Amino acid sequence: MKTILYWFKQDLRLHDMQGLYAIDSQNRLLPIYVFDPRQNMHTEYGFPKMGRRRMCFLEQSVLALQQYLRSSGSDLLIFEGKPEEIIPKLIDLYAIHAIHTEKDIAPEEIQVQSAIQEQIHIPIIEFESRTVFQEQDLPWSIHQLPHMFTEFRKGIEKHIGYDIEVMPITHLPTLPEIDFTTHIEHVWSGPKYQHWSHHPKSAIRAIGGEYEGLKRLHDYTFGTHAIATYKETRNGMIGDAYSSKFSPWLATGALSARQIIYVINEYESQFGANDSTYWMKFELLWREFFYWTLKKYDKKFFYAGGIRGKKEKHSWNQEVFDSWRFGETADPFVNAHMKELYLTGFMSNRGRQNVASYLIHELQQDWRIGASWFETTLIDYDVASNWGNWMYLAGVGNDPRQDRVFNTKKQAEMYDPQGVYQDLWIDELMAKNDY
Ligand SMILES: Cc1cc2nc3c(=O)[nH]c(=O)nc-3n(C[C@H](O)[C@H](O)[C@H](O)COP(=O)(O)OP(=O)(O)OC[C@H]3O[C@@H](n4cnc5c(N)ncnc54)[C@H](O)[C@@H]3O)c2cc1C
Repeated sequence: MKTILYWFKQDLRLHDMQGLYAIDSQNRLLPIYVFDPRQNMHTEYGFPKMGRRRMCFLEQSVLALQQYLRSSGSDLLIFEGKPEEIIPKLIDLYAIHAIHTEKDIAPEEIQVQSAIQEQIHIPIIEFESRTVFQEQDLPWSIHQLPHMFTEFRKGIEKHIGYDIEVMPITHLPTLPEIDFTTHIEHVWSGPKYQHWSHHPKSAIRAIGGEYEGLKRLHDYTFGTHAIATYKETRNGMIGDAYSSKFSPWLATGALSARQIIYVINEYESQFGANDSTYWMKFELLWREFFYWTLKKYDKKFFYAGGIRGKKEKHSWNQEVFDSWRFGETADPFVNAHMKELYLTGFMSNRGRQNVASYLIHELQQDWRIGASWFETTLIDYDVASNWGNWMYLAGVGNDPRQDRVFNTKKQAEMYDPQGVYQDLWIDELMAKNDY
């Protein structure tokens, strides 16, 4: 009998988890999660990498996973500290034979894993559980990945398609004996971020965890049938139904993208496919596209000149940046969106495009400051989708057009003709140190 340590990192769920299902039921399974203090470090711009709303959502997600594992006869050991200091000690303490975990693509996370591997003599086996497709299924090698989304989408649709099978959750192997009287270092002391009450005007009322993510998936499809009109409503900005709001659960891996496609396929087989049901798959392909693009370009993804390697001037003016992030620019459409983000941790896709374009092209600031602010404040922050979209709008990423600028006045006229959205947020007051 062997003991396998499963290290949950960014996929905080039990459904669609190859790395868990690959553990023979004769073996023992030790599931762990580590809160890494580096997640809360301050950026070079003077604010923490992870704001309190995202941190709170993450804590909820981890606790929900622990509860689910406990109700399945297992458990989740939760630690706080550097994984490269904690995990090698656990390997000795529990005589672990192998580590199973999720594949990382972001440079910082890869570094942490390498630091662990250097200290141990057992294998770390990685599973791709964030994406719809596995790397070996792609019709290109990573180095030949198309630069344009359209080419990527056509290649995927021609060679793979959306016919997805998701394995049901299998029986979990038993836990190894844990002697709780033995002092284990770095055990997590419990949630630090009080649950914030959702802003009364918030478009999103997400609570972290797999149960809540699957519930939203069901409500958006078979429950309310909102999926059937997604293509018409997706450019909205107010309320909970204009788009799926799957993103916070996707970002914490409480919901798998494969599961979403699987459920949409089921929905289509019962109620028929239409442009809207297809469009949700289309948008999920954007997420996929940025994921593989990050894998292809690695650190370049975060350079000012982006994956195009353009020579960019890097301006950063604190006052200008503050006017943007606190919703005090000359543009009410932008301000309303920035207030919504600050007060709720969420903003529509339409809003994100406008405020990003405004910061880059109108205020002439380095796009990476905006991306960092989104990293701090969005509860659905996802490294590849965030930096990939920012880079795209800055003209240093995958956009075939490098001069794309959103005219925020025209956008407001088109998407908020009566000013209802702007009226909703523009007079909201905010404490400027509450993120
Ligand atoms: C500047 C900028 C920054 C962004 N940062 C993030 C981020 O940190 N995390 C994040 O999940 N999304 C990000 N997006 C993409 C998109 O805005 C959000 O995924 C979407 O608004 C989330 O709401 P939803 O789940 O209701 O989306 P829906 O419209 O219902 O779409 C369903 C899912 O498709 C995917 N998706 C949709 N649009 C995009 C897109 N443009 N790029 C990648 N995936 C997409 C998401 O996983 C989303 O949850 C960003 C977009 C911009 C323009």
